[in-house]
Amino acid sequence: MKKTAMDVIIIGAGPIGIACALECKKRHWNYVVIEKGALTNSLFNYPLNMTFFSTSEKLEIDGIPFISNNAKPTRNEALEYYRRVATSNKLEINLYEEVTSINKNDIHFEVETTKQSYRAQSVIIATGFYDIPNLLKVPGEDLPKVFHYYKEAHPFTLQNVAIVGASNSAVDAALEIYRKGGHVTMIVRDEAIGKRVKYWVRPDIINRIEEGSITAYFNSEIKEIRSNEILISTPNGEKTLPNDYVIALTGYRPNFKFLANAGVTFSEDEKHIPSYSADTMASNIEGLYLAGVICGGMETHKWFIENSRVHAKIIAEALEDNL
Ligand code: FAD
Repeated sequence: MKKTAMDVIIIGAGPIGIACALECKKRHWNYVVIEKGALTNSLFNYPLNMTFFSTSEKLEIDGIPFISNNAKPTRNEALEYYRRVATSNKLEINLYEEVTSINKNDIHFEVETTKQSYRAQSVIIATGFYDIPNLLKVPGEDLPKVFHYYKEAHPFTLQNVAIVGASNSAVDAALEIYRKGGHVTMIVRDEAIGKRVKYWVRPDIINRIEEGSITAYFNSEIKEIRSNEILISTPNGEKTLPNDYVIALTGYRPNFKFLANAGVTFSEDEKHIPSYSADTMASNIEGLYLAGVICGGMETHKWFIENSRVHAKIIAEALEDNL
C-alpha cells in the first residue's frame, strides 16, 4: 500500500494539536492532524453547561482573539472558537481516524491509523488525558447505572445519585443535579472539598453541604455498587445507601500504553511523567515531540491549555532546525 509522506504528523485535534497545526501551516510544512473523534473531542465531551476556569484570552491560540460573553467562556463558546480557528485557517485535519501505532526506523516514522499508513519526518503527540477514566475498581462498577463522565442533570431528577470525588467536575455535577431536583450524596476520599475547586464555586458547595441540601461523606469510599444501593465505608463504619446512579468523577489519565508502544520512557515514580526536554518538547525518541496536557503524566492538573499552548511554538522552533 502506498504511504502518505508528511513532514509532520500531529496526533490529537485538541486545542494544543490545533495550535501545533497553525505553527506548521505558517512554515508551509506538509503536515496533518489525525484525530480519533470529533474536532476538540475532549471539549466536546465536557458537561454541556460547563464554564472554563480560565478567561477566554488565556485559551487563545496563536493570538487569535477569543470573544466570549463573560470573562470565563462556556464549553459551547470554546467549541465555536476552536472550530473557527480550524476552519477559517483551513487546517489539515483528518477526523474519526485513530492512530494505532508509531514506529521509528532509521530515517522516518511509520504511523498506522484505523484508515491508512503514513510516513513522517516528525511526530507530535498531543493526545491529552480525557479518554481513560481512573476506575474505582469495586464490584458493580460495570453496571449500566455507573458513569465516569457527566453530561447534564436532567436524567437524574428525582433520583438518588452518588457522586464520587470532590474536584471541580464532581462539585459542578453535584450542584447542578441538586438544583435540577436530584438527591445528591457525595462520597469523598479526602477530608474536605478539593482545594483546587473554582474559588467562586467552593462556598456554594460547602454551604449546600452544611445546610444538608447535599449529603457528603468525607474520609469515605465506595466499596460496592449494587443495582439499587451502594455500600460505603465511612469513619463511623460501613453504610448502605439507596442508590439509582453512581457518577464517578475521580479523574482521568493519559494513554501510557500508547506512549510506551511508541518508545517513550517515563519517570519511575508514581507521577509517571513522560520523558521530554522542556527546551524543545522532544521526547527520548528523536523526532517525536510531546505537547499539551499529556506532558504531566499522572499529574493531570499540571498542564492545561493556558500554560501548555506555548508548546506549539517551542516545538515548531525546534523543528525548524530539522526539517
Ligand atoms: P485534548 O483536548 O484532550 O486533545 C487530545 C485529543 O487527542 C482528543 O481530541 C483525543 O480524541 C485525541 N486522541 C487521543 N488519542 C488519539 C489517537 N490514538 N489517535 C488520534 N487522536 C487521539 N484548561 C484550561 O486551561 N482552562 C480551563 O478552564 C480548563 N477547564 C477544564 C475543565 C475540564 C472539565 C477538564 C477535563 C479540563 C479542563 N482544562 C482546562 C484542561 C485542558 O483544557 C484540557 O485538558 C484540554 O483539552 C487539553 O488540551 P490538549 O490539546 O492537550 O488535549
